[in-house]
Amino acid sequence: MRFLILILVTALLQMCSQPIKPIKTTEVENLPKNNPYYSRADTAKLKVSNAEWKKILPEDLYAVAREAATERPFTGKYNDFDGLGEYYCAVCGNHLFRSDSKFSSTCGWPSFFQADKNGVAYHRDSSHGMERIEVLCKRCDSHLGHVFNDGPAPTGMRYCMNSVSLDFVPDSKN
Ligand code: FE
Repeated sequence: MRFLILILVTALLQMCSQPIKPIKTTEVENLPKNNPYYSRADTAKLKVSNAEWKKILPEDLYAVAREAATERPFTGKYNDFDGLGEYYCAVCGNHLFRSDSKFSSTCGWPSFFQADKNGVAYHRDSSHGMERIEVLCKRCDSHLGHVFNDGPAPTGMRYCMNSVSLDFVPDSKN
């Protein structure tokens, strides 16, 4: 018993001696580092080469945003998420969606029935033997996902998005 207590006390002492990381109170205000193009206020169109983006973006975001990769279903951080707030482009900070338009979908990716019309652009996508409509960020031309016409009322649309392409900012921080 004494031995057990000794182990516990030693473990506790070790935990206490670990350096305490400062709590980030301004996490939301901390815009992505090393990305001079990211802004939630500037809506001016960006013309940035993929070679430049490759130096700036994390690997998983680059693959989706600039190479139109798709994250695995049911793995994204916003798939099963219903926080109230705004969604911005993770590449450039452009406003894309409001949480009011997010709905519970079984497809495995975060889904919205409406996008900010100033935030997104559309492009016909005939790749992989399918006819789809690709959704892109209007400001930086990054791939976000696809839109389908099997969504709920009032629009009947389903914007099927990659979580990695989205930055969520809760209402409390805006
Ligand atoms: Fe963008």
